[in-house]
Amino acid sequence: MLIGAHVSPAGGPAKAVERGAEIGARSIQIFNQNPRAWKPTVYSDEQVGAFREAMAGSDVDALLIHAVYLLNAASEDADIRRKTLVSLTTSLQAGDALGAHAVVLHAGSAKAGDVGQAIARAGEVIAEALAESEHCPLHLENTAGAGGTLGRSFSELAALIEAAGGGKRLGLCLDSCHLYASGYDIRTAEGLTATLEDCVSNVGLERLGSLHLNDSQVGLGSNRDRHAVVGEGELGEDGCAVFLSEPRFDGLPLILETPKPGQMREQMELSARLRERGGKARGRPPRRR
Ligand SMILES: [Zn+2]
Ligand SMILES: [Zn+2]
Repeated sequence: MLIGAHVSPAGGPAKAVERGAEIGARSIQIFNQNPRAWKPTVYSDEQVGAFREAMAGSDVDALLIHAVYLLNAASEDADIRRKTLVSLTTSLQAGDALGAHAVVLHAGSAKAGDVGQAIARAGEVIAEALAESEHCPLHLENTAGAGGTLGRSFSELAALIEAAGGGKRLGLCLDSCHLYASGYDIRTAEGLTATLEDCVSNVGLERLGSLHLNDSQVGLGSNRDRHAVVGEGELGEDGCAVFLSEPRFDGLPLILETPKPGQMREQMELSARLRERGGKARGRPPRRR
């Protein structure tokens, strides 16, 4: 497991690698554009070269590019869908250039409208963005289910993947906080196993490509997205230890998106300890990855 952190991309993607390496991250996640503006970033050849050099000289092994939250591929507004397409395509092309592990996307929101139609609209935008880029995978993130957001269940994620063409580049990013908030009780190994069985039967485990570890400030099934510091929310240290030590998550990048970014190093260190603790509780020998 590549335990890592969401970091700032200020100064370019090579700087983001440096920031991650400084705090001991094995994987990093960045926004590749200002999260509050519709202005896609295209990296220069020089920036791409500097990024690849920084990666080669560090212990950071995976980059995730998180699409910004403005995007709504399911919007009924054609202008928003067009802007979403441009931004998502640019993110995937940046992922191609940088050799990113994946672009992570919240597919969008049906708002108060029909969910099936929203999934069809989102699928169209996603399929087009994939067609206009080369090989970077796209991981759809499960959502907390707030306000009509798509991807709150594995059946919805499966429908989104199918609507987007069902190609091999489509995968999943599982967020622990969102799982819990959308009603999956992952606080115990049994609960997480049942959740992953749901994932297997709807989507298939081979699509599972990345993870977000966040604790949750709010309760099971509350459908609200409120991250807590690792171990200090409803999942607690034991619940986080279960997620971190899940054998089927071995080898995947796991990104912390903590509300206290100043404590990222400490929280990654805590996560590594919880991973060991969880492994012992499962009777597994300690593993390096
Ligand atoms: Zn996300
Ligand atoms: Zn979240």
